[in-house]
Amino acid sequence: MRYTTRQLSELLMAWYDHNRRAFPWRALQGETPDPYRVWLSEIMLQQTGTAAAAAYFNKFTARWPDVHALANADLDAVLTGWAGLGYYARARNLHACAKIVSTQMDGVFPRDCAALLKLPGVGPYTAAAIAAIAYDLPAPVLDGNIERVMARLHAVTAPLPGAKPVLRGLSLALIDCGRPGDAAQAMMDLGALICTPRAPDCPRCPWRSCCAAFEQNIAQSLPVKPRKAPGPTRLGAVFWLTRHDGAVLLRRRPERGLLGGMLEFPGTPWGTELPKTPEINDAAPYAPVACNWRELPGVVRHVFTHFKLELTVYAGEADAPEVADGFWAQPGRLGDLALPSLMQKVAAHAAASMKETIV
Ligand code: SF4
Repeated sequence: MRYTTRQLSELLMAWYDHNRRAFPWRALQGETPDPYRVWLSEIMLQQTGTAAAAAYFNKFTARWPDVHALANADLDAVLTGWAGLGYYARARNLHACAKIVSTQMDGVFPRDCAALLKLPGVGPYTAAAIAAIAYDLPAPVLDGNIERVMARLHAVTAPLPGAKPVLRGLSLALIDCGRPGDAAQAMMDLGALICTPRAPDCPRCPWRSCCAAFEQNIAQSLPVKPRKAPGPTRLGAVFWLTRHDGAVLLRRRPERGLLGGMLEFPGTPWGTELPKTPEINDAAPYAPVACNWRELPGVVRHVFTHFKLELTVYAGEADAPEVADGFWAQPGRLGDLALPSLMQKVAAHAAASMKETIV
């Protein structure tokens, strides 16, 4: 490459100073970043897009403006605030991490990656992002945007994930070239605004005159990704049990595992086959009570990282039965509870089906 790292960095920084994206967690030009806000945003942005994360970020920081406030919050309130963002282990780790930083570190997040990595919910990427963005330290930040931009700038044709160490080294060279936090965020912004996955806008790119992929006309084919095998589909049944006053039965999922500690409508385990109707109509091990369960038309579909899920919803009525581990809530109050997106879909499906039945 004809350009030195310093020249690449200067081109990137000049572009960033005029084109940086504005986010509620991002310090304005000349402002000192708040590590609490950087950490909170990075946890929210794991597996969540910036638009969705921004709404939650504003809600969280209005309610818990610093790490001490978040540490002192009830876990249930944090889980409820998180409802809809998915990957609920993040919310539990968020709360645990806030407690550690508040009580053991005087509310100050560590600066170096090794110490950050010891905090719950902080992996190598998040640690590097906090060190670089909050403390302006040269740390190896590599997210999907930076991966793509580096692969193209240097025409790295080795497939992912094997190419990651090379791409991380290339990105660190730029981050370590002055203004580390800005450099990391500039590459993220370049990847999101110009060097997009399907249609890179090379004529508007600050690196168009030095980009190896552009020169070789191979930008769109990079980075090379392994072909993804389609995830399996799991099946399950879920029970929409209502009481005479319209309240619906809920329970809490086990603390560990998928959607750990979140609320749900009682249901069967998720497997390759649905239990048969006679099994459904009995109480344990599947239904919360024995009653005449009606299968609602259609299914609720949801996609997790490693599998797809199809839930069949059964509706039933019971007059205030004693149900172990369950509690009742009015459907109109479900929005105040820590219901994951999947269960929000179940509630919407049940409500729509009931309406049709009534009509
Ligand atoms: Fe991406 Fe094109 Fe810029 Fe290269 S020139 S970094 S391919 S947008």
